[in-house]
Amino acid sequence: MSIRASVRALARYQFTPRASSVKLDQNEGPFDLPEGVREAALERLRDAAWHRYPELHPRSLEEAIAARYDWDPDGVVVSNGSNVLLQALVIVAGIGQSVLTVAPSFAVYGMQARLLGAELVEVPLEGAGFALPVDGLRAAMAGRRGIAFLPNPAAPTGNVHARRELSAVLESGRDDWLVALDEAYGEFAGTDHRDLVAAFPHAISVRTFSKAFGLAGARVGYALTSADLAAEVRKGLLPFSFSSLQAAVALAALQNPAYVEERVLQARAERERLVAGLASLPGVEPLPSQTNFVLFRVQDADAVYRGLLERDIAVRRQDHLAGLDGCLRVTAGAPVETDAFLEALQAVLRTEVVGG
Ligand SMILES: *Cc1c(COP(=O)(O)O)cnc(C)c1O
Repeated sequence: MSIRASVRALARYQFTPRASSVKLDQNEGPFDLPEGVREAALERLRDAAWHRYPELHPRSLEEAIAARYDWDPDGVVVSNGSNVLLQALVIVAGIGQSVLTVAPSFAVYGMQARLLGAELVEVPLEGAGFALPVDGLRAAMAGRRGIAFLPNPAAPTGNVHARRELSAVLESGRDDWLVALDEAYGEFAGTDHRDLVAAFPHAISVRTFSKAFGLAGARVGYALTSADLAAEVRKGLLPFSFSSLQAAVALAALQNPAYVEERVLQARAERERLVAGLASLPGVEPLPSQTNFVLFRVQDADAVYRGLLERDIAVRRQDHLAGLDGCLRVTAGAPVETDAFLEALQAVLRTEVVGG
């Protein structure tokens, strides 16, 4: 077969779907759209021209996003989930050049670099607090060109890097780099890097409707950047790849956005309950988080993961990642899910102690 060697060598994306009733493994919102928003979306779908191609790029959605974030609509790029935008960025600025990120970070950056044949450079986060390695990133940028991906809030560690640190990295990349700030979890931390994107013409903020907007199934991501850069990034997306049906759902959410703030407050409250509950258990160390998930370290991640699954609770393993030995990740879900998770974890740990 003629599959390229770099594709053969690439590991599959690591996700095992679990049919657990308590699903805390993908950082989704725990509740579906409020009834009124769902109705508004259905109404738009009813009125859509299903037999026609969608707009080349969804102008009405770009304008609605621009209005919400006080941005130039020409600088808004919409795609089928932000993962597709990350890929477009590797296509337009990584192939034949470099993809730079931190470790650990979001798996898609490295996978797309390997798949598309860009040099992948990963600089480890620093210390127990997973600080941004500003000097290491600047050194890696020197003598190379390409696209740097910096998730902030950081994923999967959940911490937030200071604006001045991001700004220092952006300063270094002015001539030869694009810098993508992945703000998938920004709403939960209350952070927003529009000011950095406005200040640096090579910066782009990548965002998603999958997390705080609770629309992971609809597949809607977007980026905010300059009109110039937006036009280049759109070349990395397939024409007509964003359907009018997706646009309808995102527009309905943007017209009735009050629920998002409520959901964010609810996620923060559950996150704090998770951290407190985890900290009270012997041998469990929760790491600080400003997102809608919590990383926690246990002695035997494999045993705890399987014990939770047996009790019908799905979390995500992260213990294969650099610096995350023994770590699992749990999503801040509904209050009953937090209760069920903490209770099950306590039972698993008790069995482990008794059994061991
Ligand atoms: C969830 C997530 C995304 C978003 O993915 P979508 O394709 O928009 O669902 C992007 N970056 C990070 C760091 C994420 O955690």
